[in-house]
Amino acid sequence: MSYGVVVCPACRRAKGADLARATTKCLDCGKVMQLDSVKVWASTDHADELSTLVGQVHTQIHGETYEPPEERPRPAKKKPAHPNSKRERLLLDTAVRLTLEGGTFKHSDFFEALKGAMEKVTEEESDKYLAFLQARCLVIEKRPGEFQAVSEGAAPEEL
Ligand SMILES: [Zn+2]
Repeated sequence: MSYGVVVCPACRRAKGADLARATTKCLDCGKVMQLDSVKVWASTDHADELSTLVGQVHTQIHGETYEPPEERPRPAKKKPAHPNSKRERLLLDTAVRLTLEGGTFKHSDFFEALKGAMEKVTEEESDKYLAFLQARCLVIEKRPGEFQAVSEGAAPEEL
């Protein structure tokens, strides 16, 4: 048994320790524990099992609701939705290019640019694609009739 789980007498935090050593230091409060005088709650020969055992011992002490800090779900970071098809990619690239060129663009600019980028596209489809990009928050209507891409390099000036 080379590794064990000990519990800090000061702050009750469980931690893994190398039992071949004389002491171990609590990561939370810094208390130094003498390994020959503290209870070893669990032990293993395999270092890679230690973190699991630490979690088990901590649950034993603190109850089932305890979650180790590193396993708590992190707050989801807000980021623009990512295009996930080739066509979306093309639509977004077009919007980004127009934004970089002129700051904002109109329905008609988008249609003209799409005509150059796609096999065939109608004005109706172009409007539909623009509405789609807006719905996915990839494009915003900055002023009535003027659009701006908000993703992938086209840094919005004001949001
Ligand atoms: Zn401690």
